[in-house]
Order: sequence, then C-alpha cells, then structure tokens
Amino acid sequence: MASETASLLAKLVSIPSVNPMGRVLEGDQVLEGRLTDFLESWFRERGLDCRRDPVAPGRDNLLARYDAPGSSRLILFDVHQDTVPVDGMTIPPFDPVVEGGRLHGRGSCDVKGSMAAMMTAFERLARERPAGSASVLLAFTVDEEFTHMGASRLAASRHGASLAIVAEPTSLDLVDCHKGALRWLIQTKGTACHSSSPDLGANAIYRMAAVIRVLEDYARDLQAGSVDPVLGPATFSVGRITGGQSVNIVPDLCSIEVDRRLLPGETALDAIGAVRGRLDHALGRPDWIEFEKPWVHLPPLERKEGHHISALQAAVTQAVGRKPLVRGVPFGTDAGPLDEAGTPCVVFGPGDIAQAHTKNEWIDLEQVDLAALAYYQIAIELGR
Ligand SMILES: [Zn+2]
Repeated sequence: MASETASLLAKLVSIPSVNPMGRVLEGDQVLEGRLTDFLESWFRERGLDCRRDPVAPGRDNLLARYDAPGSSRLILFDVHQDTVPVDGMTIPPFDPVVEGGRLHGRGSCDVKGSMAAMMTAFERLARERPAGSASVLLAFTVDEEFTHMGASRLAASRHGASLAIVAEPTSLDLVDCHKGALRWLIQTKGTACHSSSPDLGANAIYRMAAVIRVLEDYARDLQAGSVDPVLGPATFSVGRITGGQSVNIVPDLCSIEVDRRLLPGETALDAIGAVRGRLDHALGRPDWIEFEKPWVHLPPLERKEGHHISALQAAVTQAVGRKPLVRGVPFGTDAGPLDEAGTPCVVFGPGDIAQAHTKNEWIDLEQVDLAALAYYQIAIELGR
C-alpha cells in the first residue's frame, strides 16, 4: 500500500505548476497558482497556519511556520512550486502512475517528491511537538526554474532562520556548494539594405560571427583555467542565436543568448567584464556590440565549514541508515540567493538529478519516505 507521503506526492504531481520560462504560455497548466491554492487548503484543513507572500501576478510564495516548544532556533525548509514545461514528454505529465516503486510524472523528482516529504515531516512535528526540536519555517517558492524570483523575495525578507535546507534531488546526499549562473543577451548592430547591393549596408550576422569566434576561444580558455577543487572550472556557452528578417535584406540585428556558470568567489560584474574585455581586445572596441542586463543572476553556493554539517550528517544517517556524502553539484538552486543574503544553506532531497527535467520523469518512492523521516530528524538534531 502506498504511504501517505506517496499519496500526497501523487496529488501534488496531478496539479500542474509549469513555469513558462519567459515564453508567453497560457492555459491551465501554467504558473503556480493552482498548486498554491491546494497547499494553502492542505494546511488550513489541518489547523496549521500559513500565509501567502505575493511575488508576481498570480505567483505567491506560501509560508507555514511551526514554533517548537521552548526553541530558540529557527530553520528554513525551502521547496519550489514550479516545474519545467512538458514539451516532448513521453508519459502523461499530470496523471501520476506508480510502477515498480517509482512514481512517474512532471515534477515528481524536481521537486514535488521533496515537497511531499517536507510537508509530511512538518505535519508530524506539529502533531507530536517533540521536545528540543528547532522551529521550522516551510517556504514554498515560485519561479525556481527560470529567474528564482520567489527565493530572491524570501532571501530579502527578514525570515530570521539561521540555516536553510533547500529541496532538490540529491539522492539523499548533502550538497553544500554549487556553481552560480548568469544568462544574458549580446547583440550586434548593423545597417540594413537591399541584398542586391550588400556593400551599402553592414551585416549584423557577419559581425556576430566574429563575436562568436572570440567567445568560442574564451569558453575554451575558461574551461582550461583555474578550477575549483570540488566544482571544477567555470564555463561559458552560447545557447541560442537569432538574426535577420528576410533573405533579401542585409540584417541590421543579430542576438545570442549566453550562459556563464560562476564559481564561488566570482561576481556577475567580473564575469561580464571579462567577456566584454575579451571582445574589445580582439575586435578593437567596436561600437556595434551591445550587452543587455542579465535576466538570470543566480549566485553560487559557497562551501562553509561549521557544526551544522556534522549535525545534518548525524540526522540523515539516523533516518536513512546510511551516512550521506557531503558534495558539490554543477547545477544552481534556490540556495544561491539565500546564501548570498547571509543564510548558510545545504541542499538535500530524494531522487536523482538525472531524472529531473526528463521526458519520463520519475522518483523512487522509498527515497521519498526516507526523506520525510530525514527532514523530521533534521529539525530534531538542529534544535540541540
Ligand atoms: Zn528543482
């Protein structure tokens, strides 16, 4: 028989909360609102307080708080409400199917498995009120998959927590550092004219070709440059190109979208400045290149020594029956903005990141149940 946590997970997966990822998508699958409504009534039905914190139209963070008896320490459980889109999926995204101990559906692994486990642990804390536990602020954030608006809003609030556990699929290991991400648009400008006399214009696509050759060299140098002992090198990648209106017009505009992964210690300003400097040096400071302001700026999570890691290891070992690894990952999480605002963060959750964002996304239900025990035990251990 399915556990209560597994039944809750199936319900969460059946409520679409797709992030439009900056595209204009409409319909009843898009944005987090329906899931937020469900979560709010789930807490209310159990007599547990929660409140909404509006982040953008139709997109609210939801916050529930458990005040432990006699506790002076507050920890934050952060879990995002959104999922990536469902384009190209080969299974029904919102009709969860359980087979061989796995639950299939969009968001099952990233990150509703963790969400069900955190909710189960939270409800148990509120019901049992164990002595010596830490208090818990459980935050359901919006827009993790695109610009981390929800976590940025939470980070800027005075939440008062001294440590955050950020839910992402880590196979029940403790992740204490990861890279950051920076995404922005680079444009080349030209002069349009009739393609029968191209010498009368300036071709923005030819100009972009020159830019891209420089950037390819830059990416190679970055990869071969200084390396973080846990996270490896910083990286740069050109991910998308658009330009031109018609084959018989010399184009006056070409754009690329670029992705730069930041190592701990690197700032956005430094990284963008290095790219600009490289282009100026190679191309003679042209006035036809323009950089737009990044639409994604996710700070890296820097490894911090501290007592909290051994306490978390003890809690997870006790709940899961295996000592978790402490490791770094290349992908970014909500921990970036929270850590940058001064709250130490550790990323922890059930499921393997290899199954996140996939066309047949699934999660191992045994890990989800173990995670529910682990989140509970973490609150106990960190209250000591
Ligand atoms: Zn996620």
